[in-house]
Amino acid sequence: MKTIDKIYINGEFVTPNGTEYFDLISPTTNEKLGKVRLGNTEDTQNAIEAAKNAFKTFSKTTNLERIEYLKNIKSSVEKRKDDFINIMTEEYGGTFQFASVSYDYMLKSFDSAINLLNSYSFIKTMGESEVQMTPIGVVGIIIPWNSSNGFICSKLSTAIAAGCTTVIKPSEMSAQQTQLILECLHEANLPKGVFNIVNGLGEIVGAEISRNPNIAKISFTGSTNVGKIIAKEAVNTMKRVTLELGGKSPNIILDDADFSKAIPLAIGAAFMNSGQACIAGTRLLIPENKLNEVKALIKETIPNFIVGDPKNPNTAVGPMVSEKQFNRVQDYIQTGINEGAEILSGGLGKPEGLENGNFVKPTVFINVNNQMRIAREEIFGPVLSVITYKTEEEAIEIANDTTYGLQAYVSSSDSKRAHNIASQINAGRVQINGIGHDPMAPFGGFKQSGIGREFGTIGLEAYLEPRALIQPK
Ligand code: NAP
Ligand code: MG
Repeated sequence: MKTIDKIYINGEFVTPNGTEYFDLISPTTNEKLGKVRLGNTEDTQNAIEAAKNAFKTFSKTTNLERIEYLKNIKSSVEKRKDDFINIMTEEYGGTFQFASVSYDYMLKSFDSAINLLNSYSFIKTMGESEVQMTPIGVVGIIIPWNSSNGFICSKLSTAIAAGCTTVIKPSEMSAQQTQLILECLHEANLPKGVFNIVNGLGEIVGAEISRNPNIAKISFTGSTNVGKIIAKEAVNTMKRVTLELGGKSPNIILDDADFSKAIPLAIGAAFMNSGQACIAGTRLLIPENKLNEVKALIKETIPNFIVGDPKNPNTAVGPMVSEKQFNRVQDYIQTGINEGAEILSGGLGKPEGLENGNFVKPTVFINVNNQMRIAREEIFGPVLSVITYKTEEEAIEIANDTTYGLQAYVSSSDSKRAHNIASQINAGRVQINGIGHDPMAPFGGFKQSGIGREFGTIGLEAYLEPRALIQPK
């Protein structure tokens, strides 16, 4: 049993003023792992004050100094690889496979921030003027549980590259993971107040960050509903917002694709991070005349996606993070059945032998039409909807008939054809014949998948405010 009773303000682990505790429950066994003491409004204000003071000097640091800080954090994180992977599997139920990828992603975010500092010009000439790209101020970072330390590393490293200071509110469910990254950040010896982390509830700590006039910008990842609440509050003080919200990503398999490769890839895209991924490819669009072939391939592939103990390296799908999330996924499977979709694989209930944890059966629905709720709403679990199309035009139409637009996938043996289709899909990223992450390319959503972009120069500029110096001749 672990008790986490410190938050981090102004370079120190401190006891929060908040006195409430939140239980940390194992997603794999539903046993209590520990508890975390939650910060309150006052704690959040103290963290913001520390970040505000630190900004005065940190905003003036040179690129070389920032690169040094980023290297220091990276080397602290490098020393704790096994700890990061273990705590993510234990506390969050992330599979060993996903936790390993997530760990690499954390390290790469420091490399790409360093890369940006080596290549980006903070002073530009536009027209006849000098334009200075200046750090925006204190950034509030509000993140969910599905890749907690990955989000902390990517958002914090961009903030540091920009010369901004931060107040971070992770999900309280990630408290042990937060404690570990905090130990690394503390060891990296950054100036006091550059990063502050407050464990606490969204409606308290998150709400204060959204409201407080000393926060200049919010970088949020999470649900579309909470993103809207934050954006509405933020506008009162004209905070800039970057919102990474939900998705219902289409995966178009063209008739000339190699189905024996494309279908396993599609299942992988749907069930990544146990389905708890905003970029999961949850709508599989296939040519109508290939349905039987696809059904057979899905049946053949599904047993390779082993459900079970997330610590087992062979496990592809672990438990849902919480009982609440388990129930949400069950409700959606029931909704799919009620809507008249047909279960090809999986279904309601827990897999045999896994009754103690929040495990669901990876589920594939066929006979889905794009108007059903299971095709329109983000489920955030391993549930895939197969939708058929007659023509390429119809495939594009279905792909774009969604309120979301975060990511999409296209498979074809003809790369020119795939490129042409990809160029017509309204999504921030389109993956062609595979799944990759380019940390120098923008990531973010069209439509209700969010506002703004992260990564690369576009991501960096979201933490900068341009100042034009005009000297009429
Ligand atoms: P969420 O409610 O959007 O939470 C994300 C973060 O926002 C958490 O730190 C949360 O704190 C905080 N928050 C909640 N209410 C807030 C408020 N009024 N003001 C400021 N911050 C607030 O997501 P969730 O409850 O963890 O998951 C619910 C659903 O969101 C999932 O089922 C999934 O569909 C979606 N989701 C999407 C993503 C994504 O990457 N796009 C990630 C996670 C979840 P608390 O933890 O204290 O609530
Ligand atoms: Mg919540």
